[in-house]
Amino acid sequence: MGIVSKDAEYKAREARLLVDIYRNSMSNLEARRELFAEKLDVEGGRLVLNRIGSGDLKIDVVQDVGQCTPLAVPLLDRIVPHGLLRPAVEEASILDVIKSRLLHGKLRLLCMYCGQWDSVRTVENLPEQIRCPKCRSTLVASTFLSNDALGKVIAKKMRNQKLTPEESKEWMTGWRSAGLIQNYGRKAGIVLAGRGVGPTTASRVLRKHTAKEDDLYLNILKAEREFERTRMFWD
Ligand SMILES: [Zn+2]
Repeated sequence: MGIVSKDAEYKAREARLLVDIYRNSMSNLEARRELFAEKLDVEGGRLVLNRIGSGDLKIDVVQDVGQCTPLAVPLLDRIVPHGLLRPAVEEASILDVIKSRLLHGKLRLLCMYCGQWDSVRTVENLPEQIRCPKCRSTLVASTFLSNDALGKVIAKKMRNQKLTPEESKEWMTGWRSAGLIQNYGRKAGIVLAGRGVGPTTASRVLRKHTAKEDDLYLNILKAEREFERTRMFWD
């Protein structure tokens, strides 16, 4: 499986250290339970390996990603963001996969100026400059689809009511995403559609000012890998 880089070696050591620290803890028990009860099909896996061993199943190794079945491409896309394996696919084809994923992604847009607009948009349909269709303001926040909190917080703010610390945090996150949408328009929408990419990460990616569009997508991928890598330990 792929060539293990120095970086991956370091990360593996880091992971082993964490395993040692939590070996006798409840979280270890729970992680094992989740792994063996929910994530892995140990019996099914054993069956497949036995059939491969007996020659009943044959393995075809495909070297050229162009020959992968469409089913395999999203899997490769899932593996690569973890950054633990050397990309099994050339950058150009990763780029196509991530580009299409981001452009087909959906964002929930809310007007922070009038509080009257809350709508879901597909990234590829976003105009260069994003405005609230109700009041024409460019102060439009972007959040994930299931976030029902932001709309309520904006409404509360419009009524001049005091926000709880939790709500203030929500409002600030919305405000910062609106700043990015206002400054970078559609480009900010593309970045914010990345997995685990909030306004803080997005502004870092957007500030890099990449002349080439491809570089923007690669930087989003990098940010997603970082998110996946840390989520593996802390989520
Ligand atoms: Zn508005």
